[in-house]
Amino acid sequence: MQFIHDNTDELIEMLHGKEALRIVVTTHHKPDGDAMGSSLGLYAYLKQLGHTVNIITPTDYPRFLHWMPGHKDVIVYEGNEKKCKLITDDAQFIFCLDFNDLKRINEYGPIVENSKAEKVMIDHHREPSNFDSYRYWTYEASSTSELIYEFIKKCGHTDKITSRIADCLYTGIMTDTGSFRYRGTSSNTHRAIAELIDKGAQNSLIHELVYDSNTMLRLKMMGFVLYEKIEILQAYKTALIYLTKEELARFDIKTGDTEGFVNYGLSIEGIKLSVLIIDRTKLVKMSFRSKGDFPCNEFARDHFEGGGHKNAAGGQSSDTLENTIVKFTEVLKLYKNQLQ
Ligand code: 5GP
Ligand code: MN
Repeated sequence: MQFIHDNTDELIEMLHGKEALRIVVTTHHKPDGDAMGSSLGLYAYLKQLGHTVNIITPTDYPRFLHWMPGHKDVIVYEGNEKKCKLITDDAQFIFCLDFNDLKRINEYGPIVENSKAEKVMIDHHREPSNFDSYRYWTYEASSTSELIYEFIKKCGHTDKITSRIADCLYTGIMTDTGSFRYRGTSSNTHRAIAELIDKGAQNSLIHELVYDSNTMLRLKMMGFVLYEKIEILQAYKTALIYLTKEELARFDIKTGDTEGFVNYGLSIEGIKLSVLIIDRTKLVKMSFRSKGDFPCNEFARDHFEGGGHKNAAGGQSSDTLENTIVKFTEVLKLYKNQLQ
C-alpha cells in the first residue's frame, strides 16, 4: 500500500518499549462498523503489548455492532463525561481512528485537544486537519480497519492477530467496502481479508450478525421509505430521501437504523447522486453517495459543513429540515453539468 503520510516509526519504537503506556483509543461520533472494528481491533492489540488502554466513543453506536469483541469495555463519552475527561487528561497517547478533524468527535473534541497526550491519527478520509503528532494516513485504503491491519503488519506482529482481532478488522473492512464492492476495494484489501480469515475471522457469521439483525419494525420502515419516500430529481440524476421527526418517532428509529438507506437511491439505474436527509434531535444530518466522478466530499464540505470520501460523504445543517431541503435543491443547480 502506498502511504501518503506515515511518520509512525518512532511511535512504534515507543509502543514496543518496556514501559507500559497509558493509551486512549477513540473514533468518530455515531461510530459505524469501520470505526468500531478498527478501534476494537487496535484496542485488543495494544493491550496485548502490555499497555493500559481505554476505548472511548463520543456517542453510542448501532445495536448490530454490540456483539463485537471488546464491546463491553467501550466507554461512551455521553453520560460518562467526568470519567472520560480524567482518563483522557491522564493519557500519554490518544489514537484517533477513522476521522481526521476533532469536530467529528463533538464535545469530546476539546478534551482530546487539551490533553497533553500525543495524538495519533489513523484514517482514510480526505483533507485531514492538523491536530496530531503521528499520522498513518492514506485515502487509498478501503477502510481504517485495513490500515490497522497494515499497521500491525508494519509492527511485525501479524502473529499477534487473534481471532477476536480478526473478527473486528474483518467487520470494519466489510462494512466500509459495502461487502467488498466499493471503489476503495483493492487486491490489497482482499489479501488482508484472506489473511484475517486465516487468523480465524468468522466471515460468514459476521455478515449474518451485521446484516441479518433487522427488527420487524425496521423492515417495515424500509418498505415505507422505498415505497413512499424516494424522490427522483431527474434533471440532476439525483435521488432524495428525507425523514421527518414524526417519521423517526413512528418507526422508533435508533442509532444505526437508517444505515444503508441512502444506497437504495443509488441503486436506481441512471442515478449519479443519492442523498438522505434526517431531522435528528439536535441537527439535520445528511448522507451523500455518488457514482463515478461526482465528488460528494467536496459537495458536503462546500455546502453542508461535512466531508468524507469522493463517493461517500456526510454533512449537517443547523437550519430546519424544510430549509435544508430547499438549500439542497438550490445548490444542486450549480452541479447540473457535472451530474449529466
Ligand atoms: P455516512 O453518510 O455513512 O454518515 O458517512 C459517509 C462517510 O462520510 C463516512 O466515511 C463518514 O466518516 C463521513 N462523514 C459523515 N458525516 C460527516 C461529517 O459531518 N463531516 C465529515 N468530515 N465527514 C463525515
Ligand atoms: Mn472508515
